Amino acid sequence: MQIKLMELSVVVPVYNEYDNLLDLTEKIINALTGRIKPFEIIYVDDGSTDGSSELLDQLADNYRQVRVIHFTANNGQTAAFAAGFERAQGKLIATLDADLQVDPVDILKFLPYIRDYDLVVGIRVNRRDNFIKKISSRIGNGVRNWLTNEDIKDTGCPLKLFKREVVQDLELFDGMHRFFPTLAKMKGYKVTEVPVDHYPRKHGQSKYGISNRMWRGLLDTLAVRWMKKRKISYQIKEEEE
Ligand code: UDP
Ligand code: MG
Repeated sequence: MQIKLMELSVVVPVYNEYDNLLDLTEKIINALTGRIKPFEIIYVDDGSTDGSSELLDQLADNYRQVRVIHFTANNGQTAAFAAGFERAQGKLIATLDADLQVDPVDILKFLPYIRDYDLVVGIRVNRRDNFIKKISSRIGNGVRNWLTNEDIKDTGCPLKLFKREVVQDLELFDGMHRFFPTLAKMKGYKVTEVPVDHYPRKHGQSKYGISNRMWRGLLDTLAVRWMKKRKISYQIKEEEE
């Protein structure tokens, strides 16, 4: 059997996002139809308990572009990305949150950059989050960049566009979805950043607050710092036949 490669797979982690899913699906399909062909949407249901799981199955029945993976329990966003990446058939892979805080139409803005770069990362220039979230994100980015010797402005921007080989090459551990740009650079891939629009979360709740992000985030940052420092690299002088 020949596997038909998609031009683009949109991978979306979903944990209790019932009220966003129909709108999101229509937005993605409207944004991409006629512009990228063929494309697929892969929803990774990360153990939802609010009816999202059933709704996702209905969406997969109603829209031929939609595929759904259900986890048996909540395993976290990085696991959701890993499962989605493994199953994605696209030559390009876009990621998005399910909460409608970024607009899928901005994927099109990223497309021209993917000729010269392997990963395009959004920058939410006009953040529409509450003060606590904005300030903790600013501090988070600052500490991450400082400790890992990076200059990524908004690693947490959900909107990213990867070449297929980049996602296949990422070695993921829980929490590493916050470091995709650094992990990609460590593998020698070229990364660029492009501004995107941002919108308030209208439905559902953010799954992260200070308590489950700060300390874990700091530990993860130290882990990535260690990985960067201990990265092995060598060149062979001349190898005998
Ligand atoms: N999410 C997930 N598993 C989790 C937590 C979150 O799949 O354990 C999904 C969530 O449904 C959303 C995305 O990951 O699509 C980002 O989560 P959220 O919007 O709550 O994070 P924030 O943008 O507030 O940092
Ligand atoms: Mg969000």
